[in-house]
Amino acid sequence: MKIDVLTIFPEMIRSYMTQSIMARAIQKGFVELNVTNIRDFAADKARSVDDYPYGGGPGMVMKIEPVFNALKALHLDGIKRHVVLTTPQGSVFVQSKAQEMAAGAKPLAIICGRYEGIDERILELVNEEISIGDYVLTGGELPALVIIDSIVRLIPGVLGDSRSGVEDSFSSGYLDYPHYTRPEEFQGQRVPPVLLSGHHKEINRWRIKQALKKTLQHKPSLIDAGVLNEEERKTLKEIKEEIENELSNCI
Ligand code: SAM
Repeated sequence: MKIDVLTIFPEMIRSYMTQSIMARAIQKGFVELNVTNIRDFAADKARSVDDYPYGGGPGMVMKIEPVFNALKALHLDGIKRHVVLTTPQGSVFVQSKAQEMAAGAKPLAIICGRYEGIDERILELVNEEISIGDYVLTGGELPALVIIDSIVRLIPGVLGDSRSGVEDSFSSGYLDYPHYTRPEEFQGQRVPPVLLSGHHKEINRWRIKQALKKTLQHKPSLIDAGVLNEEERKTLKEIKEEIENELSNCI
């Protein structure tokens, strides 16, 4: 998958993408990453990319021309990109969007804003505005990395065991089940005995139950009874009864 990032801080992107799973994905050819410094496309000697806002007010605004010129240069190789603008005003990025982008594997160009954001006329040049959540960061580099990481780990072959991506939270429709590793006991807390039993069917049932329980507690909106299978529906009923019993015991 081809990914371009347009930024005025290329090292922020490179430093993350040269570590761990992202670095391996690039080395193994799953991802072709190209980081463009928007300053290289500035028109003046000072390589300026920002200017004062029309109408006054605080802060600076990123100029449109350097971003336009950088995008134009990327299109010269004839491969059309899906151009994404990182902005807190965009649609909030979710796992299903990452899955869709990983499956489509369409060449991607992500633009990182800074200052008060980029001159509004940028919207004519982008296909999509993406936010990583309802809060404001100083720049689009972290959002670009969040988007890239979540997509790249879903490309088949990138993760050591492809089941990880499938079993993760949100992928199966509910949150992931709890994980444990050695030691068997830590500060009085023991690993649930079923996980030490070697009984795969029981382990699987326990995991489904725990995943449903966590989802019910933390993200009930994810539970759509329509997509649960027969066993999951039964387990969900069991959990709800257990919770009700616990509550009535407390009263
Ligand atoms: N003035 C803008 C506003 O209130 O909508 C915020 C600009 S922010 C300080 C600078 C840049 O950081 C944005 O242009 C965008 O690229 C990036 N950014 C900040 N928060 C973000 C978020 N939640 N999601 C995606 N990008 C974000």
